[in-house]
Amino acid sequence: MRALRLLAWNSPPELVEVPVPEAGPGQAVIRIGGAGVCHSDLHLMHDFAPGLLPWGPPFTLGHENAGWVHELGPGTGGFEIGQPVAVHGPWGCGHCERCLVGIDPYCEDPAAAPVPGGGGGLGLDGGMAEFMLVPDVRHLVALPGGLDPVLAAPLTDAGLTPYHAVRRSWPKLAPGTTAVVIGVGGLGHVGVQILKATTAARVIAVDSREQALLLAKDCGADLTVVAGPDAAAEIRRETGGRGADVVLDLVGADATLALGAAAVRTLGDLTIVGIAGGTLPVSFFGLPYEASVQTTYWGSRTELVEVLDLGARGLVRPTTTTFPLGQAVHAYQEMAAGRLVGRAVIVP
Ligand code: NAD
Ligand code: ZN
Ligand code: ZN
Repeated sequence: MRALRLLAWNSPPELVEVPVPEAGPGQAVIRIGGAGVCHSDLHLMHDFAPGLLPWGPPFTLGHENAGWVHELGPGTGGFEIGQPVAVHGPWGCGHCERCLVGIDPYCEDPAAAPVPGGGGGLGLDGGMAEFMLVPDVRHLVALPGGLDPVLAAPLTDAGLTPYHAVRRSWPKLAPGTTAVVIGVGGLGHVGVQILKATTAARVIAVDSREQALLLAKDCGADLTVVAGPDAAAEIRRETGGRGADVVLDLVGADATLALGAAAVRTLGDLTIVGIAGGTLPVSFFGLPYEASVQTTYWGSRTELVEVLDLGARGLVRPTTTTFPLGQAVHAYQEMAAGRLVGRAVIVP
């Protein structure tokens, strides 16, 4: 079969022939129905120095995956051949306190995981191929209610990651509050919908691209703000001078982190999800009192079940553009050029 593989750091991926994987004990092979194109893959291709991560190429890209069970290894109950499933992407050890409750992204025994801190498409072979090996069926979630794998695939990361970030801030998103989403690409346009579907907060979306702000409006944003030097003042003005109760920075550049710090309210949350490499100085007078700053990585298996439920009920629906596997390199180029709206999904 053909697979889109990252063969070396700081290089474009290549379409190459690889053997079809086979399921061993406890494992499953999935026929891919959709594999999302995430900006993190562009960081892998362009930004990360060798040694930054505990794993590296070569591997098949694609860490947002859904499709159908193709083969089940010995000792795997609960699934049937042909059943539509989503893959929970972070693969931890399965037995530490975090993995036991489905928080594989924060696995505390990474040496015992299939790959430390990664998963399929992040160190091990992912879904940008016709078939993908999943090393343990516990990473599979049955798709609810006829949900299309092309929509389910982005929900496993572009949905799950902002879902986790929003969910942990639910207590700060009561009626009368404001949430700001910085960066309305793959993650951000789903994040806006998640905020609207699960909270009563007013949602302000910020992006540098006109098309992204139009999509934010379509997704239910109450207000859109063009990124730039005036954005923080506009958010403060729009919130009666108080600032935003929750800011999700889905870019993570110096400029967006500074914007988040300038726009967040006392007692608010500034959550850094984007990996653009910026830094935020944290000091006594640098942030409003009791504003908390955190990074988040992906989400739990339980949260994936919840976000797929939102998808199956039509409360959250990714805007997708599909590309065949032969056009996957082109899809990444379109993302790098800022020409994608919503999420690109590879359909092998
Ligand atoms: P994307 O390319 O689809 O969207 C990024 C959006 O940010 C675009 O709309 C772009 O116009 C906008 N943007 C870029 N610079 C901006 C700026 N200075 N001000 C305002 N808007 C700006 O990317 P994506 O796939 O949604 O990923 C977003 C980020 O999140 C990436 O850095 C990615 O690596 C990271 N990510 C993190 C996690 C995690 O678990 N922490 C998971 C997935 C992705
Ligand atoms: Zn991703
Ligand atoms: Zn673990």
